[in-house]
Formats: sequence, structure tokens, C-alpha cells
Amino acid sequence: MRYVYDYAEDAPGGRELLGGKGIGLAEMTALGVPVPAGFTITTDACRAYMSGGKVVPEGLDEQVGESIAGLEQRAGKKFGDPADPLLVSVRSGAAVSMPGMMDTILNLGLNDIAVEGQARTTGNPRFAYDSYRRLIQMYGEVVDGVAGHRFESAIADLKTARGVTGDLDLGADDLRELIGTFQRIYEEEVGEGFPQDPREQLRRAYRAVFDSWDAPRANVYRGLYGIPDDIGTAVNVVQMVFGNKGEGSGTGVCFTRNPATGEATYYGEFLVNAQGEDVVAGTRTPEPISAMHERLPEAYVQLTAAFELLEAHYRDMQDIEFTVEEGKLYLLQTRTGKRTATAALRIAVEMAEEGLISRGEAVARTDISQLEQLLHPMLDPTVEVEVAAKGLNASPGAASGQIVLDADSAAERGKAGDDVILVLWETSPDDIHGLIEARGVLTAHGGLTSHAAVVARGMGKPCVTACEGLAIDERAGTVTLGDRTLNVGDVITIDGGTGRVIVGPVRLVAPAIDENFGTILSWADEFSRLRVRANADTPEDAAKAREFGATGIGLCRTEHMFMAPDRLPIVQEMIMASTEVERRAALDRLLPVQQSDFEGIFEAMAGYPVTIRLLDPPLHEFLPAPGEATSDAMRQRIFELHEANPMLGTRGCRLGLQFPEIYEMQVRAIVRAAAAVEARAGEAPLVEIMHPLVGFREELARLRELTERVAAEEPSVAYLCGTMIELPRACIRAGEIAEVADFCSFGTNDLTQTALGFSRDDAEGKFLTYYLEHGILEHNPFEVLDQDGVGDLMRIAVERGRGVKPDLKMGICGEHGGEPRSVAFCHRLGLDYVSCSPYRVPLARLAAAQAALVDAGVTALVIGG
Ligand code: ADP
Ligand code: MG
Ligand code: MG
Repeated sequence: MRYVYDYAEDAPGGRELLGGKGIGLAEMTALGVPVPAGFTITTDACRAYMSGGKVVPEGLDEQVGESIAGLEQRAGKKFGDPADPLLVSVRSGAAVSMPGMMDTILNLGLNDIAVEGQARTTGNPRFAYDSYRRLIQMYGEVVDGVAGHRFESAIADLKTARGVTGDLDLGADDLRELIGTFQRIYEEEVGEGFPQDPREQLRRAYRAVFDSWDAPRANVYRGLYGIPDDIGTAVNVVQMVFGNKGEGSGTGVCFTRNPATGEATYYGEFLVNAQGEDVVAGTRTPEPISAMHERLPEAYVQLTAAFELLEAHYRDMQDIEFTVEEGKLYLLQTRTGKRTATAALRIAVEMAEEGLISRGEAVARTDISQLEQLLHPMLDPTVEVEVAAKGLNASPGAASGQIVLDADSAAERGKAGDDVILVLWETSPDDIHGLIEARGVLTAHGGLTSHAAVVARGMGKPCVTACEGLAIDERAGTVTLGDRTLNVGDVITIDGGTGRVIVGPVRLVAPAIDENFGTILSWADEFSRLRVRANADTPEDAAKAREFGATGIGLCRTEHMFMAPDRLPIVQEMIMASTEVERRAALDRLLPVQQSDFEGIFEAMAGYPVTIRLLDPPLHEFLPAPGEATSDAMRQRIFELHEANPMLGTRGCRLGLQFPEIYEMQVRAIVRAAAAVEARAGEAPLVEIMHPLVGFREELARLRELTERVAAEEPSVAYLCGTMIELPRACIRAGEIAEVADFCSFGTNDLTQTALGFSRDDAEGKFLTYYLEHGILEHNPFEVLDQDGVGDLMRIAVERGRGVKPDLKMGICGEHGGEPRSVAFCHRLGLDYVSCSPYRVPLARLAAAQAALVDAGVTALVIGG
């Protein structure tokens, strides 16, 4: 079994076998970028070591010995040579970057005799002693677990004794003395002297790397990021190059582009006369990379040449470690650089414009979840804030507003145009009207999947939950936030992206689709097949949706139009009516207001399809609670309409069939609005009238007849008549339903509830939290579509529906329509469109394009290490 590969040879197995660092060094060697000689001990060796009960696998020591001999030959130096020793570093490097894994050991191969030889050969005793003391320190910490502070305080003591402050102020003799001190510390802690045999040093060092894979902190990290436990780490043994040889040497780190802004300028730092992590350790202040031009001119030219070569090869921004030894440059690591969302967009656009990547790749490599942070109002980053309390970052975005302590006042004040933050112990479905009108939600209890969190995310509203420093006294109308006591009406600011709560207003900056974001989105649209619509109930939402690039409305709910304060009394009158005539009289008064609602939306969406769903909720939702009824008749009616399980009761088309005059009024309002807009603006949207909760063909057949009859009485406009698929039966019988439907739209919120038998309100924050915490379910099915279950029902519906009517228009209008994985699934199903809340439209456009690009074989490159 082959366990060791030299950087200069071709190795099979790529990143999985060599790890990120190893593959980077091997590829740089092949590219002709200056890299020190070295080799990789593969992840196979680590896995064999682990599965063999932490025994070095057979042949490994011999193979390492051979590779060391090869290094010796090329370097013209011997490992352990008393006069001029070969030194190496031992570095861990898994296939996935795991910060906090075993630290690197530098200068391995020195001992008491070789250090003197090195001092003589280099004529630089300070350098030799500095290297050796670093080895004892790193080796002691990493291999034998000696506490780092023991070495650090020895350095501090020595500096105090010498009356100096900087590490560089310690001379050769000081460092030699420090070596003695370090060796005493080592012996005290380990119980034996510092190992003098370089081969023993090496063997123990790479074993320590293997062992570190199983260290508690590594296990915790892998658990957190879902990295498999059995992939193991590789070990890199790299010939040392020295940045601590004086003013002509140095070490640094550099990004090939600015990782904060994306600007195409080198961005990094270096330090002369330094080694390893000195640049990031913060003990000395590094110089900007641009200053290297003057300090180390030759090396700077080599460095920038390497940057160009590496960007051209990896076709992405690189994060590079380098060392300069007496004017000569060496690269020690390259990996894809982490960057902000803004920088990611700029880099992708500019690289495509430079011709380095294709537009498809620019779209494919855009990280959708990272972009989310750009789509919410944010605290002005230039303003310093004092955080009064902190909770969970349950739904991103920031909002300022006056404290209100109950949903009713939130609804009332919000409708009146005030900015309010709803502050509660926790929210329940009864608070929905308050949530709708509040700017944001703050709760003391609940977690990331609590009702408040889920609803807020769905609405794109900021939310902070589980806020520890928060206590509420509803009676007194006061709120305690940390050590501050506030009253109802006082202004607070919440930042749902970080969980911070701040007393008083903070300036917010609006989310904007900047130029680069806009460019990526327009490129995305060139690739996607799925169209993206928005769920929008108001003209404002429709306008917002257009701004974000929605090409239509996939779901316009009409119940909000019945809830508005000027309508509710009429709606209640309609419900209370004892005869059809009375009911129609009330509905006649609603007709013009409904029509004007639709006109506003149609104007914003002229030329695009707009799906209007007719009234869905059960009628009792429009009546007050029994205790608040204003008359005996009303109390009686509430009693009559009471249902044990309203979710499965008289709602959707069941309501429409029993009270046809309601749907008749709505159809009339829709058709009249479309005709009015067409007359005014010259263009109307393509109206799609959607009947909710159909399970039987006969339901839709009758409603279609109703729709056509009413539309025929009105001015002629083009429209489609279809249904929302929200019941398993509708999926299974989609063939029959398709006979009477022009389109079908999956209402996956209800379809998830009805397919899983989960009532969302009873699941989230209750047993669903348990399911997620205990790994029974991986995702909240209301956020990430349950592809195996609900998704399979959808597949059946598509097959059967299109089997009967091949051109049946099909889409999705549940919240899943904006969730990237679910969007990709809808693409694969062959749906025509997805529809989601306006602020998620840009994300859905990208997800749709990425799904199409996967079909075309274009995926994101991920190169790390
Ligand atoms: P990490 O994974 O924590 O970045 P590295 O293995 O990259 O650890 O190394 C830590 C530091 O030591 C880096 O600054 C790296 O450039 C430096 N380094 C590693 N090997 C050598 C070497 N052979 N010669 C000089 N510097 C090295
Ligand atoms: Mg590194
Ligand atoms: Mg529904």
C-alpha cells in the first residue's frame, strides 16, 4: 500500500487523498510556482492508523524514510546532520478545511548539536537559536500537550530581565539561554528530555497529527459542520524555508483580490525577519503587501507573478501564504479565499468580464445563503451601538420601533402607520395579525424554529428569540432589557441577523441590489428554465416583486382584503346574513373595494401572469372570539360556525361551493379590474383564477362552471381557471383534475400539513423541535420541502396531470418556492414556475439558474486547503 506521495509526482485520489494543503502544494509544484520540496502522507494512512487501533500501518515508516532520503538528495543536506541539517515542517491538512486542527511544527530536525552547526554554517546564530526554541515550543505543545503559556511566560520573563519589549530585541545569547529554559520546562512537563533523534521527532509528529483527528475539539467541529468522521487527515512534510534570516527575509499572507470589497487589488500583509504565524500572531505589526515592493523588490515581483499564475489556474481568488528567504520567494499554501457576499459578487462579475470564468460559472459559484444577508435592512455599520440584550438570530434584518406587548395593539398601531416591535414571552398563531403589522418581533422564549421565528422568516421580518436578558411585565406595561427598564412606547432596535437588541433607534440602511448583484441576476435569468414569480397580496408587494425581478404573481391571497378595518364590518354582516339576498347585498358593497385592490396589483404586473386565489379560510376567522361578540345573534353564529378542526373543515372550495355568491363576487371583481386596467394602461396581466383546496374533480368542475358563467356576464378578458394542489388526493387524482384545470399550483404549505399529518402551529416549537433536535428529521419540512414524501406526491401529480393535458401549466406557491434546494427540486420536476415572497425572488432566480446549470454540467468550483 502506497501512503506517501512527493509534491513533484502525480498522485491519484486528488483532494480526498492528499488533503487541501497537500493537493495545493502538489499543483503549485506542477505549475512551476516556487514551493519548497516535500511530500504528503495520505489520508489513507490516517484511516489505516485509526481503524487499526492507532497503530502506524505497515510500511509507512519505511516510505517516510525513503521520501526523507529523496529530500536530502535534492537539498544536498542530511536530516540530523550536525553541521548543516535538513529541517522540515509537519503540517496537518484534511480534505475539508478544519480550523483549529493540529498546529504546525516548524524546524523539525534540530537538536542540541545540529543547532550549533546551523549557527556556524549560516553565520547567523540568532537565527539558529530562534529556530530551535520555536521547535521545542511547538513540538512540546503539539506532540506532548505542554501548556503554551509555560513557554510564553518564559519569554516574557526573559524580556523583563533584559529590559526589552520586542521579541526581536532578544539577541543570540538570550535565545540560547531560552533554549535551556524551554528544555527544562519540557522535561518537567513530559518527564524526559527533548528528543534529539530527528527521525523520532518526525515519527511522533505525524502520529500526533493522526491522533489530533480524534481529539475532542476536532470531533465537535466536525459534528457542527457535518464533516464525516472517517475521512481522516493527511500530513505534509515540507522542507523548511526561513523568513527569519534577517532583513532580506520575511513571511506573509495575501489574497489575490480584496476579500471585503472584491476589488481586484492584492490584499495582505508581511513581516520582515519573521517565521510562520508571526504575521497573524499580533506581537508585531505587519506591513501592507504594497510596501513589499520597496522592502523586498525581487520577491515582490516573483510573488505577483505567482498570483497571476494561480488565479489563472484556479480561476478564483486565492488566499496565499508565502515566505521569502534571503530574497527568494516560496509559496507555502494556496486556497480559495473566503469573502463577503458583496466581494463574492464583484469577483464573480469581474472574473467573467476578464474572461477568466464563464457567465455560467459566475452564477453557479454564487453562494445563495450568503446573499441572503444583502436582502434585509441592516444596522448602519458605521454606527456604534450599545447592546442591551442578546438572543438568537431567528430571522435576519433589522428594525426599530416602539415596544408593544400584545398582538392587537401591534396590529392596530401598525395599521395606523406606526413602527412597532412586538415584544412577547413567545408568540402563538393567534398573534398573526400583530406579526403582520409589526416591524419586527422579539421574544424571551422560543428557539430558531419557534412560531415567531418561522413566521417572521416567512414574512421576511426581523426576529430575535430566546432573548435572555428580556423580562416582560404586561400589567405594568414595562419591559426589562438587561439592566434597563423600558415602557410600552419606548423605541428599541432589533437585529435579527445577529440577535442584538439595542435601546433606542439606530439608523438602518436599506437592502439594495447593487450593480454586481443585478448583473449576476440578469445572467442567471439567461440560464434558468423555471420562471420566478412572487407571492404578493398588495400593490406595494407587487411593485417590490417587480423590482426584485419577479415575472408574475404566483399567489395573491384575498383574505387580507377581507380583514382590513374598512371591510371587516361588511364581511361580518355578510356572514351574519340569514338569507342569500342579505348576503348578496353585503357582498355588493365589497365588490368595488375588491376590484380596486386587484386593479392596483394588475397595474404593477401588467404583461405578466397573476394568480388570484379565491377566499380560503373558514368564515369564523372573520368573527370575534365568542366572549367579544357584539350581539346574541353573533354569539349564536360563532357557535354554529365552530369547528373542532378548522384546518380540515369548511374552508377553501368547500366554502366557495356552499356560498357561491362569495366566489361570484370575487370573480366579478377580478374580471372587472383586469378590464379596467387594460382599458387604462393598454395592457392587463394574464389573470389566473385559482380555486383553493380542491380534492375532487367535481369540485373544480362546478367552480369552473361558476367562473365561466360570471366572467361571461362581464367585459371579455383573457383568463385561466385552475386550482391549488394542497391535498394528497388532488395529487393522486391530478389526471382527472387536469381535465377541468388550465393550471395547477402546488400549495406546499398545506400539502405538507395534509401529507405529513402535521398541523404547522402544533408542530413547530413543539414536537417538531424535538424531532429536529433528536435527528428524527433533518430539516423543518415547512422550510425545506420534504422531497421524498411531499415531493413524491408532486411528482405523481405532474405525471398524471400532464399525462392528460401535456401543456398543463404547473407551479409552486408555498414558501418552499424560495428555498434553494426546493427550487432545484421543482426544476427537476419540470414545473413552469416557482413563487415566493418578494424579497426571496432574487435567491429563487439564482437557485433556478443553478439548477439549470447543473443540467448543463456547470457547477461551482471549490478549491480550498
Ligand atoms: P495552518 O493550517 O494553521 O495555516 P500551516 O501548516 O499552513 O498551518 O503553517 C503554519 C505557518 O507555518 C504558516 O505561516 C506557514 O506558511 C508556515 N510554514 C509551514 N511550513 C513551512 C515551511 N516548510 N517553511 C516555512 N514556513 C512554513
Ligand atoms: Mg496555513
Ligand atoms: Mg392552503
